[in-house]
Amino acid sequence: MAHFPTGTGRRPWRASVLTLFPEMFPGPLGFSLVGQALEAGIWSLTLQQIRESGIGRHRAVDDTPAGGGAGMVMRADVLADAIDRARVPNPDLPLIYLSPRGAPFSQARAHALSEGPGVMLLAGRFEGIDERLIEARGITEISIGDYVLSGGELAAMTLLDACVRLIPGVLGAEESLSQESFEGGLLEYPQYTKPREWEGRPTPDVLLSGDHQKIAAWRRAEAERITRERRPDLLRSKPTR
Ligand code: SAM
Repeated sequence: MAHFPTGTGRRPWRASVLTLFPEMFPGPLGFSLVGQALEAGIWSLTLQQIRESGIGRHRAVDDTPAGGGAGMVMRADVLADAIDRARVPNPDLPLIYLSPRGAPFSQARAHALSEGPGVMLLAGRFEGIDERLIEARGITEISIGDYVLSGGELAAMTLLDACVRLIPGVLGAEESLSQESFEGGLLEYPQYTKPREWEGRPTPDVLLSGDHQKIAAWRRAEAERITRERRPDLLRSKPTR
């Protein structure tokens, strides 16, 4: 079991990942603000190598699908052992299997998870995992989108990145969170910076007016316009916060 350090007195938000490829981590999660937060001990990352629970001399973790068909399936007994080992130091973490069949991941889910003690994530490989494990260990399935990845590791990193940046103290200005896409049920308004004019395209006058009320009204109207054009479904659903 690999462990990334925690440096503060405060109990960190805990991520425990079960994977056949622990060396992929922290990967992108070791960079920028999320990486600094890992170093600072705001969150911690523990990796459980599933193969340690494998069977026989070759530490087999998968077998052929019952009923026939292509590919291999990860064994319930092997995964149960890996989960039970990972749960020893982290018995309180919700257990999530990253799966294309799962409930779509969302900003609302990221908020809910970031407010808890952390997450235990199972990254699948091959054709997926034995169904009995999902029932027996009370696993929640979450999908990061309607496409199929070759493994759950990138999905786990995506979920972790979205959660960790919501933990207080990870991002500099809390303000930048409340204005983002999906917060308040809208996509973000367009952003501009210097230079004032670029390739003949000016920055909208209102953003240079210094009138904060007008700027806020313009941003709100733009956020509504973009959401209506690109994601009208968001306007029909409940806001995430
Ligand atoms: N046979 C499975 C199916 O059709 O649903 C796909 C298995 S996929 C090749 C291998 C692993 O990648 C899965 O067990 C899961 O952990 C992960 N994975 C693939 N797509 C994903 C997605 N959209 N969201 C979350 N995890 C995904």
